Amino acid sequence: MLSFKRRSHPENRKKDWNTAMQRYNFPVGGIEIRIPSDYKPKPAAVAAPSSTLSKKSFRYIATRSLFLACGLATLGNIPVYSMINTPAENQTITLEQPADADSPAQVLKDLNLPAVAVESFSGFSVDILPDAEQGNWAMRTIADDDTLASALSKLKLDKAAKPLLENASIKQELQALKTDSHLLAQTVDGHLQQLIYAKDKTHAYIVSLTDDGYVGKWEDNVFEIRDSRLAFTVKYSVQRDGKEAGLSNSLIRQLGQVFQKDVSFKNGVKIGDKVGVIFEDFHYQGETIYTDKILAAEYTTGSTTFQRVRFSLSGGKADYFQPNADTELKRAAFDRVPVTGARMSSGFGIRIHPVFGFRKAHTGQDFAAPHGTPIHATADGSIKFMGRQNGYGNVVELRHVSGVTTLYGHMSAFKQGLASGESVHRGDVIGYVGSTGTSTGNHVHYEYRINGSPQNPATAQLPETGIMTAEEAHSFKSYAMSMVEQLADLRKLASLDKPPTTQPGG
Ligand SMILES: [Zn+2]
Repeated sequence: MLSFKRRSHPENRKKDWNTAMQRYNFPVGGIEIRIPSDYKPKPAAVAAPSSTLSKKSFRYIATRSLFLACGLATLGNIPVYSMINTPAENQTITLEQPADADSPAQVLKDLNLPAVAVESFSGFSVDILPDAEQGNWAMRTIADDDTLASALSKLKLDKAAKPLLENASIKQELQALKTDSHLLAQTVDGHLQQLIYAKDKTHAYIVSLTDDGYVGKWEDNVFEIRDSRLAFTVKYSVQRDGKEAGLSNSLIRQLGQVFQKDVSFKNGVKIGDKVGVIFEDFHYQGETIYTDKILAAEYTTGSTTFQRVRFSLSGGKADYFQPNADTELKRAAFDRVPVTGARMSSGFGIRIHPVFGFRKAHTGQDFAAPHGTPIHATADGSIKFMGRQNGYGNVVELRHVSGVTTLYGHMSAFKQGLASGESVHRGDVIGYVGSTGTSTGNHVHYEYRINGSPQNPATAQLPETGIMTAEEAHSFKSYAMSMVEQLADLRKLASLDKPPTTQPGG
């Protein structure tokens, strides 16, 4: 299956060009096509002569020559493609009219390449790239309890990583790995050649094998992040066809989650349904090393198209929204729990008091967490009180909408710089878990009060707020519009990727 990728950095295009022949990656501008290693173009496929590409004016502009491929030779298992180079620079081409004999889509069709994607930006071109491109990079998303050694072990690199794990300064640097960060390892002939700890999108610790052994250093902006686009028509299943089109398992999983309310990938899929995905690709030294989040996606079944666009709300939380509908959605104005990953150690209501032993109404919920764990404001509000208060120890009380106040007790410390009367946002850190006041261990005592009277925080009916602020809705709408345009282009290309029974000449 073919997949198309955008190549966004003009500088890199030039660089790629120099190394292109080794990588069998013929880059010019906008797109890479991956061809499965067992793909054999039909001899008749060479029918499309470059001269049929006219200078018609369409929507998509190729700023460089267009290269098309036909199979000529093989090198090992990797087919090598020669190129038909269209002579014209600044040629204007389009995929808007797939029936047009002049369009590259038609040429791809004539070549009998199962075309599946389209690009919607200027700088269009076609690269041919064999599947082997990801080479020997292995990647692990760091879990809560991962250490460097355990993460490498999960990658089955215990043996290859042994010399690296004996390096004290590298071990020291990578002592604590951030949850959800990425660890990437490149092996060459069974030796660990490079290790990248991608702490986030911009910061990475890079270990390389040199003549002096392993050397590691922190670097900024090592990754080139590209938006990739991919489209396909379902012939068997989303999983199988998605994988063939070049989607990673993680992206296929995400796709299922994004559309879980619309279609079941297990039993709701029809042959001929169309899928379009825009996602982030991370490149390091010209190689795709991992794919990240889906930025936008659509699923078309019959005459219905479902679309979702990823958008980050204030506070950093991202979600997938319908481009036209979801800006009006409401959500609860409060989080139920003020600490992430905490265990509820005591519920709301009557209980035996842990310190004094008598029966007493517990006016809140207790969440046990390690000393120093950040405590978050559960909603937007302002600081009504912060200080010491009897049994509550160090306590922060917040005032919110609709007569609601929340209280956070037994803190070890307050967030620095906070003061009474100041406003806080939902999710802001206001203090840290401790055991001050009347308490038997590290926990936060959380109260949810309406007009001063404590309610059960787990069941209280929460006030609602717009899912997006007016400002967010505004920026979402314009962003979503550009995504929707690109998805529409992908849909057109997916329709070129016909199920076998309807493939022309197939
Ligand atoms: Zn309590």
